[in-house]
Amino acid sequence: MTTPVPALAPVPSSTADDTGWIQPHALDELWFHTGTACNLDCPFCLEGSRPGDDRLQRITLADVRPLIDAAVGLDVRQFSFTGGEPFVVKDMVAILEYAASFRPCLVLTNGTAPVVRRLTQIRKLAGTAHPIAFRVSIDFPDEARHDAGRGAGNFRLALQGLRALHKAGFAVSLARQMQPGRDEADVDREFRQLLAAEGLPAGLRIVPFPDFGIPGEARQVPRITEDCMTRYQTEATRRAFMCAFSKMAVKQGGRMRIYACTLVDDDPRYDQGDSLADALRARVLLHHHRCYSCFKYGSSCSELG
Ligand code: SF4
Repeated sequence: MTTPVPALAPVPSSTADDTGWIQPHALDELWFHTGTACNLDCPFCLEGSRPGDDRLQRITLADVRPLIDAAVGLDVRQFSFTGGEPFVVKDMVAILEYAASFRPCLVLTNGTAPVVRRLTQIRKLAGTAHPIAFRVSIDFPDEARHDAGRGAGNFRLALQGLRALHKAGFAVSLARQMQPGRDEADVDREFRQLLAAEGLPAGLRIVPFPDFGIPGEARQVPRITEDCMTRYQTEATRRAFMCAFSKMAVKQGGRMRIYACTLVDDDPRYDQGDSLADALRARVLLHHHRCYSCFKYGSSCSELG
């Protein structure tokens, strides 16, 4: 974001009706949450994903096909997928095959055992009508620190997965954690050295994420008001909020639901029903604590831009 955002004084939660908001202007990107089941059990996971978890259920091709079709009718530009770990989902390859017959796709993955095990199937996706890109999570350029959160051996496995996807011809990027107190450019430099040493393109895109907390966590952050959204944001930066140009579909209680973005699926106030067209007309109020990360850091899961 271009407008400097000062530190705001914390304000207690309020019933005032001047909460900042975003009016969506397009459906450029439709995200699918593949479910909170994951092969890993990381204590910091913003989705609370772990083996066998079903807070958000695993999607099937039958679940997502009508939404993909509807999104194409709304001129969506890209389909993106996050989890959990997408490749623990049985239908994932078939889902990507279908989605990529219409639009480019992006898959966020931990790059570990589920990817490595299914590489033969995944490689076949290199021939889809539209390209599929992968973003692999590697929290820190330091193996011990990464594995302390994700489990022993997973740093090496993630690099193996990343290398295999790159070698198979897919575009790849990397998600990392922000390190408060450290210069972000220095951290990226360490990553680029690691990538070069691992035979990967040192210039690949690195997407840093702040600590979003775990689902349901009540974090005290400054309240975002309408005044904040005009004083510290511009028309251009407001349009860059994910909830301005994307939605996320999740499976809950056996039904597909549309949420305002990828970051707020733990709060029913952001459940916008089952129709993409209706959800696009709804104003999004920025009262979730994660909205402050978007406001302050310009946090975004998207690679569109
Ligand atoms: S978390 Fe960010 S993208 Fe999601 S609703 Fe809040 S401001 Fe919008």
